[in-house]
Amino acid sequence: MIVALAGGVGGAKLADGLYRALPAHQLTVIVNTADDLDLFGLRICPDLDTVMYTLAGIANPLTGWGIRDDSFAALEMLGRYGRPTWFRLGDRDLATHVARTERLQAGVPLTAVTAELVAALGIRATLLPMSDAPVATRVQTPAGTLDFQDYFVRRHQAETVTGVVFDGIERARPPAAALRALEEAEAIIICPSNPIVSIGPILAVPGLRDAVARHPGPRVAVSPIVAGRALRGPADRMLESLGHEVSAYGVAALYQGLIDGMVIDEADAALARRIEGLGMQVLVAPTVMNDPDDRTALAVRVLAFCQQIRQEAR
Ligand code: GDP
Ligand code: CA
Repeated sequence: MIVALAGGVGGAKLADGLYRALPAHQLTVIVNTADDLDLFGLRICPDLDTVMYTLAGIANPLTGWGIRDDSFAALEMLGRYGRPTWFRLGDRDLATHVARTERLQAGVPLTAVTAELVAALGIRATLLPMSDAPVATRVQTPAGTLDFQDYFVRRHQAETVTGVVFDGIERARPPAAALRALEEAEAIIICPSNPIVSIGPILAVPGLRDAVARHPGPRVAVSPIVAGRALRGPADRMLESLGHEVSAYGVAALYQGLIDGMVIDEADAALARRIEGLGMQVLVAPTVMNDPDDRTALAVRVLAFCQQIRQEAR
């Protein structure tokens, strides 16, 4: 069993590569749920949905989130009723939230609801939320403290992030299945997701960071920062405004003590020595995933890197 930690679009791409590279049922993905929100009375889990749609092969390839060829008739009608439409919800996507919310309201925990949705979509991997209890990321900015999706989607990440809080995190617990998977994992892979607001909340769930820290390895992270920039989204600006180095080194430093290896892009080969100085091995590889073949190719390199670390440790 391989366990991956993932946020949304960046994480889903490597998770998909791992899914394709591994035998069926050998992948467990623990997914960030601190981006989750309630809208129109529905519970929406953007990162879980992104990973789920991507592994099911139905994700919108243009955006990375949402469902391919979805229509927006329901959202358009909601707009006519004067309801907010800044959070883009397609018709098919909406059905996911209806089904999820119905089950949650029947008292089924998010972990079990997610397993039902994943099975219905024919995915032969395990997707686990980082916790069943809700956690909500809020970002501190000069414009005040903002709900995550208000910052991320409505305001297009225009505000400078001066702090991040994970509301409800102290009451959150990792699902038992997540702790079990981490304990039994042959390797743990931290996907190229935003280290602050995607991987950060997962590791902040009480008990989860310790489970990774205790693991004998190999534990490997893939940098979401390539040549000093995020490929999309605000990870680079967030690292900067929160006082971290905006580079693969800066990401590696955040994971120091939790990982045995760091995968950095060929464009960042010059950082390898410094990253090794943090007490971890470095693999330099092409890490930009433009198509499904790139995902599988990177996953194969990452798995081979894990194997190499495991053999050296013997
Ligand atoms: P979100 O929840 O949808 O914002 O997605 P994540 O947190 O999972 O991923 C966002 C991060 O993914 C950004 O920092 C991007 O730089 C990174 N990312 C996106 N695509 C790629 C890729 O192909 N390769 C690498 N290395 N990073 C990527
Ligand atoms: Ca996200």
